[in-house]
Amino acid sequence: ASKRQGGSTAVFFDETHHKIALDKLEVEQDLFLALTKKEFRLVYQALVEVSTKKIYGFEALIRWEHSRRGWISPVEFIPRAEQTGLIIQIGDWVLGEAVRQAACWRRMGHQIVVSINVAALQLSLGDFASRVSKVLQSEDLPPEAICIEITEGTLMDTVAIQELERVRDLGIAISLDDFGTGYSSLSYLRALPVDIIKIDRSFVTPLGNDKKASQFFRAIVGLIQTIELKVLAEGVETELQWQELKDAGCNAAQGYLFSKPVSAANATLLLDGPAPHSSLV
Ligand code: C2E
Ligand code: MG
Ligand code: MG
Ligand code: MG
Repeated sequence: ASKRQGGSTAVFFDETHHKIALDKLEVEQDLFLALTKKEFRLVYQALVEVSTKKIYGFEALIRWEHSRRGWISPVEFIPRAEQTGLIIQIGDWVLGEAVRQAACWRRMGHQIVVSINVAALQLSLGDFASRVSKVLQSEDLPPEAICIEITEGTLMDTVAIQELERVRDLGIAISLDDFGTGYSSLSYLRALPVDIIKIDRSFVTPLGNDKKASQFFRAIVGLIQTIELKVLAEGVETELQWQELKDAGCNAAQGYLFSKPVSAANATLLLDGPAPHSSLV
C-alpha cells in the first residue's frame, strides 16, 4: 500500500510541477503582452515635507490596467515579474515614463522630485546607472529631479551595490524603502549608499495610542538621524500619527492622510493647490 501511495504521490508531484511551469509561462506571456499592449500605468503619491506640510515630490507607483480583469495591484504582479526577469523591461518602461512626467512637471515650473521604485535585479545587470543617465539626458532633466527607491526586502549583491553607488555619483538621491521589514541588519545598512530611509508603514500604523510603538518609532528615527540620513514615515493615515511623527522629528511623510496614489493629472492639481472657489463648498 505504501508503495502504491508513493507512486501516486510521484505522479501528483509531476502534474503539479507541470502546472506551475505552465502558469509561469502564462504569466510571463501575459506580462509581456501587457508591455506591448501598453497596459501599464503610473500613479503618483504625494511626498510631504514635515516642516512645511508641503508636497516636495511624488512616488511613482505602477498599476496594470488589464483589458478583462481591470486594475491590478503591483503586489500581484511585481513579484512574478521579478521571478520571470520581465521586471527588467517593465522597470525600463517605469523609468522612462516617470522621468518623462518629472520633466513635464519641471517644465510647468514645479521643482519637485519623482521617486522611482527599482528592483534589485535591475541593479544586478550592471548597466542601470548608465541607463538612468541616458534617460535624464534625453529629457534634459537634472539628477535632483528623481530619486531611486530600493527595498530592503531583497538582499543585494556587490554588483548591485556598486551600481547604486554609480547612481548616487550622478547626483541622484537613494531611498531605502520598507525599512524595518527586510534585511535591516545594521551592517547591511552601513554598506548601502543611501540618503533617505523610509520607515515601513507597520511601524507607523500603531502610532497614536501605543506607548511602546511610539518609543520604538522614536528610537528608529533617532538612529537614522544620528547617522545623518533623512527619514520618511510611510502609511500616515491619521492626524494623531502625523502629530507623533512630527514630534519624533521625521523629515518627511507619505500616506492616505495627504493623498492616495492618483493620476498624473490629479497630482498636478494637488501641486496647484485647491481651486480658488473650493472654500465655498
Ligand atoms: P512601496 O514602494 O512601499 O509603496 C508604498 C505602498 O503603500 C503603495 O502600494 C501605496 O499605495 C501604499 N500606501 C501608501 N500610503 C498608504 C497608507 O496611508 N495606507 C495604506 N494602507 N497603504 C498606503 P502599491 O501602490 O500597491 O505598491 C505596492 C508595492 O509595489 C510598492 O511598495 C513597491 O514595493 C512595489 N512597486 C510599485 N510600483 C513599482 C515599480 O514601478 N517598480 C517596482 N520594482 N516595484 C513597484
Ligand atoms: Mg517605494
Ligand atoms: Mg515604501
Ligand atoms: Mg512598502
